[in-house]
Amino acid sequence: DFDSLDVVNSDRNHVWHHLSQHKAYETSDPMVIVKGEGMRVWDAKGNEYLDAVSGAVWTVNVGYGRTEIADAVRDQLVSMNYFAHSAGNVPAALFSKKLIEKMPGMSRVYFSNSGSEANEKAFKIVRQIAHKKYGGKKTKILYRERDYHGTTIATLSATGQLERRAQYGPFVPDFVEVPHCCEYRAQEEADKDNYGVWAADQIEKVILQEGPETVGALCLEPITAGGGVIEPPAGYWDRVQEICRKYDILLHIDEVVCGLGRTGKWFGYQHYGVQPDIVTMAKGVASGYAAISCTVTTEAVFEAFKEDENPRLGYFRDISTFGGCTAGPAAALVNMQIIEDEKLLENVTMQGEYLRGRLNQLKEKHPLVGDVRGKGLFAGFEMVKDRTSKEPVDEATASAVQAHCMASGVIIGRTNRSFETLNNTICLAPALIATQADIDQIVDAIDEALTEVASKL
Ligand code: PMP
Repeated sequence: DFDSLDVVNSDRNHVWHHLSQHKAYETSDPMVIVKGEGMRVWDAKGNEYLDAVSGAVWTVNVGYGRTEIADAVRDQLVSMNYFAHSAGNVPAALFSKKLIEKMPGMSRVYFSNSGSEANEKAFKIVRQIAHKKYGGKKTKILYRERDYHGTTIATLSATGQLERRAQYGPFVPDFVEVPHCCEYRAQEEADKDNYGVWAADQIEKVILQEGPETVGALCLEPITAGGGVIEPPAGYWDRVQEICRKYDILLHIDEVVCGLGRTGKWFGYQHYGVQPDIVTMAKGVASGYAAISCTVTTEAVFEAFKEDENPRLGYFRDISTFGGCTAGPAAALVNMQIIEDEKLLENVTMQGEYLRGRLNQLKEKHPLVGDVRGKGLFAGFEMVKDRTSKEPVDEATASAVQAHCMASGVIIGRTNRSFETLNNTICLAPALIATQADIDQIVDAIDEALTEVASKL
């Protein structure tokens, strides 16, 4: 029970919201979400919304109001809430076993609390291996233009998005950018007939420039998420794997967005037949019912920490206080069980195809829609002023489409916020439980928004 006016005022006066400009506090009431159920949320004013982005940032994979997860977390907290991860606990052991069963070739799970932190652990693993095995060489970590890996200084140093990075430098040394692989916006000099292999070859070029003996890892999103919902072009992943093996470079795949079913398989990389050395995940691991993230490695990576000339340096000397919380794995275990019991991977594949079909119809109808992309229930479309020039729509147009949907009760997302350009990709990532009727409501709202916004251009 609460007084909603008091909540809204307290929020306006005291909460510093993520990613919000100060004028928003002055010109409008903050949106305070007070309830969620299934695919829907309600704000403090009683407005109902269909959430097409699973908690705004692709997180609530199994939907809101899952009492079976809440109950499991409560039971776990009552029996044993916390002990540092130097000891084991029941849900962490059971969840790790279940997770590894879905990840052939992988072996060990290291727990922390956010996607950024999981990636930091991965970077520390790579750096320590560089020192243990390669005499301090191979400390460089390659990341890709347009990929996002987190909010801390090291993960920002590995992020290829200008708007996220600007004014936060200087960055951590030995993070090196490789070119993006967005076919729709293929680089001018690219081989358009063989784009996937060409784009992967650009990674090899960077490796050769830097010196392969200095490069320890390549960190990639399976499908670039916040950078524009960019599916890797055909041939890309095979070549990436080949390049990593050729130069003894660890492949770290960031599944923070795609992991746990978003694309119709347990993990995004599993669509492409690639075998990573390190996989990181967060968001959908417990669908937002608890904070949990995982850095999963192969047995070979784990083994690299087995011995050292100096036994005090031998092991992975990392610790995360709340990586030992039991609420995370307790929630994650039930989350996975729900995905299995409710056959959500199948649902994602089926509804994902339906969603993309409907978005392609929008493309036929609205010249504003330039390119439809994505996999499973992870979709995006770029809005352009003109299909030939592919000039992105301006900020006002892109935000008007979003605002129009919001006014009609559908929350949609937008990616690619890089200042002047590429603010133009609408992103959809509804919960994995979405029905055809939900998809219709989402796409109908976008259809109307595009009509309305185009009529005012
Ligand atoms: N990696 C990717 C691909 C992400 O999209 C995000 C979050 N948007 C992160 C890492 C960072 O996760 P977190 O916000 O939990 O730190």
